[in-house]
Amino acid sequence: MAAATTTEIDRTDEQKAITEMVRQFTDEQILPNAEHYDHEDEFPEPIVEQMKELGLFGVTIPEEYGGMGLDLTTYAMIVEELSRGWISISGIVNTHFIGSYLLMKFGTDEQKQKYLPKMATGELRAAFSLSEPEVGSDVQAIKTTAKKTDETYEINGQKMWVTNGLLSGLVFVLTKTDPNAEPRYKGMTCFICEKEPGAADNDGLTIPPKIKKLGYKGVESTELVFDGYKVPADNILGGEDQGLGQGFVQMMDALEVGRVNVAARGVGIAQRALELALKYSQERKTFGKPIAQHQAIQFKLADMATQVEAARLLMLRAARLKDAGERSDLEAGMAKLFASEAGRFCVEESLRIHGGYGYSKEYEIERLYRDAPLLLIGEGTSEIQRMVIGRKLLERHKI
Ligand SMILES: Cc1cc2nc3c(=O)[nH]c(=O)nc-3n(C[C@H](O)[C@H](O)[C@H](O)COP(=O)(O)OP(=O)(O)OC[C@H]3O[C@@H](n4cnc5c(N)ncnc54)[C@H](O)[C@@H]3O)c2cc1C
Repeated sequence: MAAATTTEIDRTDEQKAITEMVRQFTDEQILPNAEHYDHEDEFPEPIVEQMKELGLFGVTIPEEYGGMGLDLTTYAMIVEELSRGWISISGIVNTHFIGSYLLMKFGTDEQKQKYLPKMATGELRAAFSLSEPEVGSDVQAIKTTAKKTDETYEINGQKMWVTNGLLSGLVFVLTKTDPNAEPRYKGMTCFICEKEPGAADNDGLTIPPKIKKLGYKGVESTELVFDGYKVPADNILGGEDQGLGQGFVQMMDALEVGRVNVAARGVGIAQRALELALKYSQERKTFGKPIAQHQAIQFKLADMATQVEAARLLMLRAARLKDAGERSDLEAGMAKLFASEAGRFCVEESLRIHGGYGYSKEYEIERLYRDAPLLLIGEGTSEIQRMVIGRKLLERHKI
């Protein structure tokens, strides 16, 4: 079934062509296979291999490093399409995208030369790691430390919820290099940690078995246990001179684009829930007619379609502002908040429309129902988004 609603007039010819290509890929490769990988909680290797061939790991990486050099808006459109198929697929790309953003914006020339070409092809995949067992929202309270000994830093501490934690070859890890710094954020540094993809033991870095989750299966979420892990000073993001003490600022910058990305995932899952509801409601009959002919069901469809469109417009606006070099922190927060809540809303409405079958693993909506809540949590919960939006509003409208 074709996508029910899209703001096609807003797209350039290049954007239309690329989203059409990704939609076809989603329809042919992701949607028919997602159920299998979700039920088995298995990494979708063949799909990821095809994504490498399509260049989807290098969408925003500049052409000089072998990427496509496209903007955040086009990337968000691609993520929407992938998420319409399965948000775990967009999760595999998402932390990689954040890692490449960090390198492009803050990396030294040597760091860019070393990592970006392999990242553009997907040969090297990236993860990023802020959260810890006791800390998520309050990022400045992390406890993982990095202490200098000669030309290397030694990292000790435990990280939590690292998407792509096992299979990535590069992890951008936020640490405390000065635990006594005031304000706290000035003592935080981001390290580029190299590791062997798939290896549970990496000389001071252990990766326990993946965390069992409600949804968002297929892509692994892991802890990272650092115990005397050594990393050269050159692997501080931006180099030791420029990067020491800059980790918090760098990561918060990256989270802003990450929020546009989560908004795109919210739009994608909401769009799919709507498509499934439109189809099912015209097939299922009660009281002598398709349930779509009952006004109560039409109202649900109307509310869902309205939310999808509004979420998409917010997402595109935040992405376009960022691409134009404008301030977009407030808009990215709004897009993330609205689109992730729209995803949850549309998925639940669609599940209701499916009646008892929505509760069956035979129907796709059951997977969407388990997947959607993640978007309310990652890259800042809805409560944290409201705090960000409120703070930025007051900053912009100070009297
Ligand atoms: C599947 C999955 C994948 C993830 N992937 C990654 C990853 O790749 N890298 C990474 O670093 N992290 C990742 N995370 C972690 C995620 O970013 C955190 O879970 C999230 O930031 C929330 O932190 P927390 O779970 O510690 O909740 P807490 O911070 O403990 O919050 C608990 C509750 O309190 C609320 N709350 C907290 N502070 C306030 C406040 N001041 N006012 C009002 N309410 C408040 C929160 O909104 C939430 O409802 C992932 C999480 C999941 C579930």
